Amino acid sequence: MTSSLSSYLMPVTARPDAVMVRGDGSYLWDDRGRRYLDFVQGWAVNALGHCPVEVRRALNSQAAQLLTPSPAYHNRPQLELAQRLVRASGLHQAHFACTGAEANEVAVKIARKWGRLHKRGAFEIVTTQAAFHGRTLAMMAASGKPGWDELFPPGMPGFRRVPYGDSAAMRAAIAPDTVALMVEPIQGEGGVVVPQRGYLSDLRALADEHDLLLILDEVQTGLGRTGSLFAFEQEGVRPDIVSLGKGLGSGVPISAVLAAEHACCLELGDQGGTYNGNPLTAAVAASVLDAIARPEFLAQVVERGNYLGRELARLGDRFAGRARGRGLLWALELSQPCAEIVRQSCFEQGLLVNAARPHILRFMPALRVSNAEIDEMLSVLERALSSL
Ligand code: PMP
Repeated sequence: MTSSLSSYLMPVTARPDAVMVRGDGSYLWDDRGRRYLDFVQGWAVNALGHCPVEVRRALNSQAAQLLTPSPAYHNRPQLELAQRLVRASGLHQAHFACTGAEANEVAVKIARKWGRLHKRGAFEIVTTQAAFHGRTLAMMAASGKPGWDELFPPGMPGFRRVPYGDSAAMRAAIAPDTVALMVEPIQGEGGVVVPQRGYLSDLRALADEHDLLLILDEVQTGLGRTGSLFAFEQEGVRPDIVSLGKGLGSGVPISAVLAAEHACCLELGDQGGTYNGNPLTAAVAASVLDAIARPEFLAQVVERGNYLGRELARLGDRFAGRARGRGLLWALELSQPCAEIVRQSCFEQGLLVNAARPHILRFMPALRVSNAEIDEMLSVLERALSSL
């Protein structure tokens, strides 16, 4: 049944036959009643787990009032969400979209406009190799995913890529046309690459020295994923522009770009979109913020993350692997390119993990994951690694 229906879909991603029909917290169920412990969570999206009560409540109550009045009119949830994100980030204004890629597009548009206004038309953005900023044509050019440059030529001009974590390479790439530096605080899709402490502050200093904008893509690291509301807080660095997505809606599509006052240069007609800032998803994001921005919640993310990291490191010691990550975003780097085999074995045992790279497994559980669920994940993973 599934395989015949799936022929109606363009085959852009490999999927097992299972059809997922229900989710609750850390668990997913397929249409055959099989239960899966989910350490992928919609690709680091479901910060509060599957179908959290806060999101359901916000959806129900907002759906009974107003779904979308069109972006041509104000709506209360959008106004309030903008104020809350601006205050929480220390930045100046917000703009909403639906996906991470779109938020990053807006970040790039702001930078290019700022370059036109303040830097004699400078437009180039220095990004990093193995970055992931989304799948629009411009974001594919901004990202350094291997193989992407050849997929849909011609590529979008205006991006230059340097090795991640290397501020000297970033400095060397700065040219008269450079307007901004754009990085993820931790490279998520690249395999949870955690830069040396000081990388972000070095980039901040570089941006200040050369009068450039620092754009942080916090689509994956934001909203508590690394143990603070924004990952940049942990480095004591404030970006000029930050993009958010994924966890902001905890399962519903909303993203945001926030910018500092000196970078806020969009004017009437510069940007838009039918669903931008619709009250349904904005109301959900407000309820997600209520849950995540509490110090007790973030402290628990740090504590659970430390536990997950410690236990992954122990498994790593036994199986010649290396754990790395922060908060509840972790990877186990294996000595052999067998992540896909391990992922498949975990799937067969009812555990969902991600093979981010041929030798890298990635773990991005709900931020509410319990220690017992972490233990359950580890025992399945251990069996999968033992059977290699
Ligand atoms: N930026 C980062 C850091 C991401 O991890 C992702 C998604 N994996 C995106 C941007 C793109 O987000 P979306 O898929 O919502 O467009």
